[in-house]
Amino acid sequence: MIALALCAEPDVIIADEPTTALDVSIQAQILELLQKLCREKQVGMMLITHDMGVIAEVCDRVAVMYRGKLVEEGSTKKILGDPDHPYTRSLVSAVPRPDKRLHRFPLVTYIEEAQEPQRLLDISTHWLGKSRSYEKSHGPLLSLEKLCMRFVTKNAILKRNRIYLDAVKDVSFDIEEGEVFGLVGESGSGKSTVARLITGLYKAVSGRVKFSGTDLTAIKKATDLDPFRRQMQMIFQDPFSSLNGRMRVLDIVAEPIRFHQLADSKKEIEQIVRDLIDHVGLDRNALKRYPHEFSGGQRQRISIARALATRPRFLICDEPTSALDVSIQAQILNLLKDLQDDLGLTMLFISHDLPVIRQMCDRVGVMKSGRLCEVTETEKLFTAPEHDYSKHLLELMPKFDMLSP
Ligand code: ADP
Ligand code: MG
Repeated sequence: MIALALCAEPDVIIADEPTTALDVSIQAQILELLQKLCREKQVGMMLITHDMGVIAEVCDRVAVMYRGKLVEEGSTKKILGDPDHPYTRSLVSAVPRPDKRLHRFPLVTYIEEAQEPQRLLDISTHWLGKSRSYEKSHGPLLSLEKLCMRFVTKNAILKRNRIYLDAVKDVSFDIEEGEVFGLVGESGSGKSTVARLITGLYKAVSGRVKFSGTDLTAIKKATDLDPFRRQMQMIFQDPFSSLNGRMRVLDIVAEPIRFHQLADSKKEIEQIVRDLIDHVGLDRNALKRYPHEFSGGQRQRISIARALATRPRFLICDEPTSALDVSIQAQILNLLKDLQDDLGLTMLFISHDLPVIRQMCDRVGVMKSGRLCEVTETEKLFTAPEHDYSKHLLELMPKFDMLSP
């Protein structure tokens, strides 16, 4: 795309969110390339992004847009360090901090205040608060032992040639009950494959997945996995493709309740769904509508409501906010943090975003090319990383020293 843009020897390049979908190491490469080309060819660039880290790294000047208007313009140093406009101020303060851990993510209050989810004061009368009949597990809730996954693809031209890819190799870690465990690594490092192995979407080539002491990999009959499936739920990266577009929100959220036969009457199921919709901060008239009528952040709330419908014990969040901008990201991450506090949920939190990992997780595992190269306490990863690859990832993280404290 960059080559194409340069073909006609332009004077100005417009780069519209050029690295939004990329992980930090690829992002760093692309940004460096763009900067180099602009310098060498004396080309100007207008970079459009919602990522303050990218702005801090690349731009000389910044203009801030809000509801169709330019509200502020100035040097990057001024805009990020000492913004005038209240919208810019709240936008800058909502950036996840890589340099310290805060209790909650600051919201972009200037616009989003009205949409803060309504937290229920008394969770004991609520579907989610009802006693969950799980025996506390002895030892870790989840335990992975030397998990391996190999994909076999055929070479399309030489039909007989098989290509093997070890997407996950000898991955072992434990997650304690109530803990938030982070998994970080660049795209293709095998994070989502680990999640799919845990939930049984993929069958491991070798190794074990133990949940609450039971070896799930030894279970042969699919229906014998159902009770465990109820206890673990997943939230995906892409809120646009993970919801069935032909179902109304009511049915999307009710489906797992029906499947696991957690309530009998239609009335009871609807009451539960209403509770869940309230809890994730959506309006009740959402129930009759279809997914395409919602924004990315709202869809992610629907996914969360659906994931909570079975009153799970363990939640896997696979890049839950990578497709969202910072203001919406802050809301969704705060919601997940609140759920974790209120319900004592155990979580596997997958992200390629280090600042987000730092805010969310107690411990973290770093993946590279299918292997786990370091497992450590989150604070330790940021202050004293041991593995060379962890150090490398931290160095690539956009620097925020221009942000106001
Ligand atoms: P991540 O989530 O860290 O970005 P993934 O777990 O999605 O990484 O992928 C790890 C590797 O496995 C990648 O090289 C990817 O292309 C490959 N892979 C994932 N799923 C499949 C599949 N179903 N068939 C073949 N290769 C796959
Ligand atoms: Mg992934």
